[in-house]
Parts: sequence; C-alpha cells; structure tokens
Amino acid sequence: MRIDLHTHTTASDGTDTPAELVVAARRAGLDVLAVTDHDTTAGWADAIAARPIGLTLVTGVEFSCVHHAADGRRISMHLLGYLFDPDHPALHAELERLRAGRLHRGRLMVANLVAGGYPITWEQVQAFADGGSVGRPHIGRALIKAGAVIDLTAAFRGPLSGRGPYYVRKPDTPVFDALRIIDQAGGTSVFAHPLAHRRGPVVDDSVVVELAAAGLTGIEVDHPDHDEADRAHAATLARELDLIPTGSSDYHGTNKTVRLGENLTTPDAYERLVAVATARRPIAG
Ligand code: AMP
Ligand code: FE
Ligand code: FE
Ligand code: ZN
Repeated sequence: MRIDLHTHTTASDGTDTPAELVVAARRAGLDVLAVTDHDTTAGWADAIAARPIGLTLVTGVEFSCVHHAADGRRISMHLLGYLFDPDHPALHAELERLRAGRLHRGRLMVANLVAGGYPITWEQVQAFADGGSVGRPHIGRALIKAGAVIDLTAAFRGPLSGRGPYYVRKPDTPVFDALRIIDQAGGTSVFAHPLAHRRGPVVDDSVVVELAAAGLTGIEVDHPDHDEADRAHAATLARELDLIPTGSSDYHGTNKTVRLGENLTTPDAYERLVAVATARRPIAG
C-alpha cells in the first residue's frame, strides 16, 4: 500500500486541480491520498467526484497556526487536520477567518512590493490564486511573470522572505486552539514538518510534549524538508510521546520539485490515524 497524506491543489497553492491531482496520484501508484490544502476544504468535492478506481481519498486541511514561545518568539506551525466535519461551526468560521486574513495580507504584501518597485499587481496575484486560498506562491508567480525573479526558490529567498522588508504576517490560529477545534469537529491531527528549519524557526521538543498531552494524534516524520537527522529526531519524538508517525510528499504540482509519493506513510500508521477520527471515513475509489 502506497499512502501519501499531505498534498495541495489549486484550491490553495498547488498547481494541479483537485481532479488532476487524484488522477496523477493513481498514476504515481498511490493507493491512498490525502488532499490537504492550506486553510480550505474547497478542493474536496472535485477530488471526491474525480477519484479513480483504486484510490482512497482522505479529506484534510493544513491549518496555518502559530505558537508564542515563552521567550516571546512567534513561531509559525502547520497542523494537518483529517476527516473532520467541515460544517462544524467553530472550525468553519476559523477557516473563513484564516482565508480572509490571507487575502488581506496578500494585498498588503503586494502594496509593499509595488512601493519597493516590483512591477506586479494585486489583480495578477488574484488571477494566479484563481479563487483559492491566497499565499505567497501566488505572489511569487506574479514576480516571475514580471521578470523580477527566476523561480519560486529565488522569490522566497528574496522579496517573499519572512525576514525581508515586504513580508506581512497572517493572523494564524494559536496551535492549541486549532488542535481543540479539529478534535471538536471529530477529526484527527498531525503536526506537519515539525523540524523544517529551512522555512524558519521551529518549536522546541517541549512544545511537542505539550501538544501530545493536549491530544495531538500524529507527527510528520518523513517529509521533503526533513533531513536524515530531522527524521530520526521526529521518529524518536513519535516513539516517546506515542504519536503516530507519518510520511508525506507535501506535493504542490510545479510550485515545488517534490514528486507525489516521495515519502510514504505505513499502512499500520494510516489505520491507527484514521481510527481516531469520528466524523468521516476515508472514501474508497
Ligand atoms: P504562506 O502560507 O502564504 O506564508 O506561504 C508559504 C507557503 O509557500 C508554504 O506553505 C509553501 O507551500 C510555500 N513555500 C515556502 N517556501 C517555498 C519555496 N522555497 N519554494 C516554493 N514554495 C515555497
Ligand atoms: Fe503551500
Ligand atoms: Fe506546510
Ligand atoms: Zn503543505
């Protein structure tokens, strides 16, 4: 069984439509695929409708979260929620708030970039986002089109950098709130790429201990942004804290170079993970 539990579509910052993604997943030899767009469930319906025979679909979302460390540092974190009820009022409202925050923040970043001399427009960025959850990759594509950078890697190192002068923060969900909301909505939660330090600061092990105590179900061990040492560390955390270890590609189509199924979750971990959710079951193709 080939199981990939973290992927993106055009509903957020991936480049495959949900229908294209499920077909590509089956072609890549996957048996189970989770669709986990940033802060939206908008891709679920098309993915479910287009799922090929032999592909089981797990509905999910990657929640944009934040943790305020004891020393005052603000650390961005991603929490994967699976198999929750998308109509749960608190969860639905929080996703709407996150997407509205992304829109507002996108506008502000574009204004900053325009003031800095980058020849892009908000209309272009919106066209790249195409009604989906707006993110920096959409601004990056406008920057590429304008000839300001050669690719997204350069865009994220330069004008889109979280440490640069054009960056604007999003109003992310405090991670313990997100955990509670996913739980109340009958879902199961996995801490995404917990040690991806290339993206920015990561939380200390003590926060993972607190998350585990607060009901976190799993932790991504195998992820493209984790090197061998990160994987070993995450696997140790999983073992010691009784968290379910997962492996995933975090596929984004042509917005990233990773391939579908580049990292996989074991059947045993998958079965244990989905057994925790009470609201929904995986949908067989
Ligand atoms: P945002 O959520 O709008 O702050 O944008 C962050 C998103 O951009 C992440 O979820 C990744 O999908 C993507 N991203 C981060 N770094 C890179 C990179 N170097 N190249 C391409 N995409 C990236
Ligand atoms: Fe992304
Ligand atoms: Fe992520
Ligand atoms: Zn992701």
